[in-house]
Amino acid sequence: MTKTIGLLKESVKGEQRVALVPETVQKILDVGWQVLMEQGAGDAAGFPDSTYPGMTQLAKKREDVLQGADVLVGVHALVAEEIAQLRDHAVIIGMVSPYIKQQRFVDAAKRDVLVFSMELIPRTTRAQAMDVLSSQASVAGYKAVLLAASESPRFFPMLTTAAGTIRPASVLVIGAGVAGLQAMATAKRLGANVTGYDVRPETVEQVKSLGAKFLDLGVEAVGEGGYARALTDEEKQLQQDNLKKHLASVDVLITTAAVPGRPAPRIITAEMVKQMKPGSVIVDLGAEGGGNCEPTEAGVNKVVDGVRVIGPENLASTVPLHASEMYSRNVWNLLSLMNQDGEFVLNWEDDILSGCAVTRDGVVVHPAVKESLGGQS
Ligand code: NAD
Repeated sequence: MTKTIGLLKESVKGEQRVALVPETVQKILDVGWQVLMEQGAGDAAGFPDSTYPGMTQLAKKREDVLQGADVLVGVHALVAEEIAQLRDHAVIIGMVSPYIKQQRFVDAAKRDVLVFSMELIPRTTRAQAMDVLSSQASVAGYKAVLLAASESPRFFPMLTTAAGTIRPASVLVIGAGVAGLQAMATAKRLGANVTGYDVRPETVEQVKSLGAKFLDLGVEAVGEGGYARALTDEEKQLQQDNLKKHLASVDVLITTAAVPGRPAPRIITAEMVKQMKPGSVIVDLGAEGGGNCEPTEAGVNKVVDGVRVIGPENLASTVPLHASEMYSRNVWNLLSLMNQDGEFVLNWEDDILSGCAVTRDGVVVHPAVKESLGGQS
C-alpha cells in the first residue's frame, strides 16, 4: 500500500530548518510513496513550495498533514498537543528530545504511534549517514567561529598592509568532537592561529591533521563507546590550573565539550574569564546543556569583565539551507531502511531501527527513555 509521508512546518519558535528538502522529496516519490506537505514548510530554509517536485501534495492546514500522514517527518517532532490528531499507527521520525516531556511517549504509545528518535540512532559506522548529531554539530561548529569572528574586535588572519602588520587572532577550541573539529577547521581557513584541546588522546592526531596545535593539559579521560567520561575533582583542578596559563594569550575561546547523558562539563570558571584579555570573545556551544563556562547564559550575548560571552541556542538553525539538506539526507537514509521495493517494512532485526525506536507495539521500548520514565511506561 502506498505510504504518505507528511512534512510539517516546524512549530518551535525560531526554527528555520525543514526536515525534507526538494531533493529528498523526489527520492521518496521515486520509491512510489506520496508526500503531503504543509504549505510554506521549507520557506524559512530557502525552499519555497515552488522548488518542491510537482507531485508533492500541498496542504493548507496543519491538521490535514497530521491526519493524512502515515509517516510524519520533522526536525523537532512529536508535539504533545498534536498526538491526539495523529492517524492510528502513525510513524513519527525526527528529533523528539527523548529526555524531556516524556509523557508524550507514553501518550503516543497508548495510541500505538511508533516514534523514532533521530538523536538515538546508534553511533556506529553503518549509521554515520543518518547521524543528525554529527551533521548538525558540524553546522554549529562552523557557525560558532563566524559568530566569534563577527563579534571579535580583531581580524582573524594575519594582514600585511601599508598601515602595518596585523597579528593573527589566537583561537582556542575546547572539545575536539564533531563541532570542535569543524570549528578548528573553520578558524584555520579564516587564517587564525588555532589550538585545540580534548581529554580523549585520539584527538591529538585529529587536531594536528587540521593544522592546529594540540594543547596538552595533562588530563586524559576516556569513557565508554569512544566518548569522554566526566573528570574527577582532582582532574578538573589540574585541567583548570594548566588552562589558566594559556587563557591569557587567547583572543577567542570556543567551547564544545560534552559528556553523553550529563550536563555540559564546567571547564571555565568566572575567575578564569577575568584573566582573559579585554575584548576576548567566548562562544560556548555547551550553553543549552548548562554551559562549559560559568558566566554563560543560554541565548544571551553579554560582556563579563571585558570579555564577550555568547551562549548560542540552536545554532544549526541559523544556517538553515545546508543544515536542512544534511538533516534531510540523514532522514532519507533512515527511511531507505524501511523501503523494500516500494513496500514500507520495519525490520526489527536491524540494529539501527530497533536502536532508535522509542515506542513500539503500544509501549515505550527504548531502555534509556524507559529508565528515566521510572516505571510509568
Ligand atoms: P560530544 O558532543 O559528546 O563531545 C564533544 C567533545 O567534548 C568530545 O570530543 C569530548 O571528548 C570532549 N570533552 C568532554 N569532556 C571534556 C572536558 N572536560 N574537557 C575537554 N574536552 C571534553 O562528542 P561528539 O562530537 O558527538 O562525538 C565524539 C566522538 O564520538 C567522535 O569523535 C567519535 O569518536 C565518536 N562518533 C562516532 C560516530 C559514528 O561512528 N557514527 C559519529 C559521531 C561521533
